[in-house]
Amino acid sequence: MSVFTQIDFADHEQVVFCSDEKSGLKAIIAVHNTHLGPALGGCRMWPYANEAEAVRDVLRLSRGMTYKSAVAGLKLGGGKSVVIGNPRTDKTPALLDALAVAVDRLGGRYIAAEDSGTSVADMQRMRRLTPHVAGVVDKPSDEGMRSGDPSPSTALGTFVGIRTAVKERLGRDSLDGLRVAVQGIGNVGYDLARRLHEAGAGLWVCDIDAAALKQAEQELGARVVEPEAIYGLDVDVFAPCALGAVINDRSLPQLKASIVAGAANNQLAEPRHGRALMEKGILYAPDYVINAGGIIDVYYEHAGIDAGRDALIRHIERIDDNLREIFARARREERPTGEVADAIAEERFRR
Ligand code: NAD
Repeated sequence: MSVFTQIDFADHEQVVFCSDEKSGLKAIIAVHNTHLGPALGGCRMWPYANEAEAVRDVLRLSRGMTYKSAVAGLKLGGGKSVVIGNPRTDKTPALLDALAVAVDRLGGRYIAAEDSGTSVADMQRMRRLTPHVAGVVDKPSDEGMRSGDPSPSTALGTFVGIRTAVKERLGRDSLDGLRVAVQGIGNVGYDLARRLHEAGAGLWVCDIDAAALKQAEQELGARVVEPEAIYGLDVDVFAPCALGAVINDRSLPQLKASIVAGAANNQLAEPRHGRALMEKGILYAPDYVINAGGIIDVYYEHAGIDAGRDALIRHIERIDDNLREIFARARREERPTGEVADAIAEERFRR
């Protein structure tokens, strides 16, 4: 397998393959760039079909973290780790311990956090063997103390970003009466929907979890639609909060929303779909800019910034400034917003 010539290799500083025979650990830690600080990024556990797929995923995700943290104004670089295996059947205490040792060997160049297939509890276990783990400390929230889970901060940032996009595209400050379609009402999507409901927006939601849908109907007055129907709704905002690659050749012709702004990672199936959105007159809030609330939250916790919850919230609200800068420059340069976000990130982390 060639690695250096892979398109996703993209100048990675360091890629480490880790194995531990006893626990069965097979993991890859990718450190993309540490110019702005240590590489912080989630640890994903997934039953990859083959090793090449795992390599591609970790390289792509770690690079994405460099861009996300740079635009969010954090003193962090980008990294990610993947563990090859099924989190339901292969994740044992011994495997987590072996992973913690592998993370520790990098001496803090990489900081792990929870991701798909790993949990806050897993990170808390790893924390016993390495300090280079984030997202593990209980902290105050609107609803009392909560675990290290960054989802509420991600939802807050996404809400802020939707407000900015609405101001830019529709020229209005209030969300009252705004029509929003939320795809996926899990940890982030539900909290986002609650904030939108409180701001007076009307909601359309889809999910594959019937209990969550019922709750959204009852608590938020949301209208439930079939997953495939979510794209073609006559709404102002389409907020993807479930899966990646949902802006693609199939969904694009159906979209009637004038704004795409949601928390899901990697929403564009391919970069060209960002240009296609622009050409259709749809304003796209680049995913890694609008969903940065979570990484900002994890950063504040890990850096031990004890300026209180207000400082964290103020930093998350700067997603508004970042998006306004991106939208203004995209307008001036007649370029897709995603391309402009990448350019701003590169200016920051290469400086
Ligand atoms: P989650 O697993 O809690 O929620 C995802 C929801 O989507 C679930 O309710 C699931 O049932 C639903 N879903 C799955 N397939 C679906 C389909 N085909 N159609 C409609 N709904 C479907 O995850 P989350 O933590 O809420 O994250 C949501 C998205 O935001 C993910 O893409 C994640 O990568 C991204 N994100 C999350 C955070 C965070 O802090 N949690 C931070 C940045 C980005």
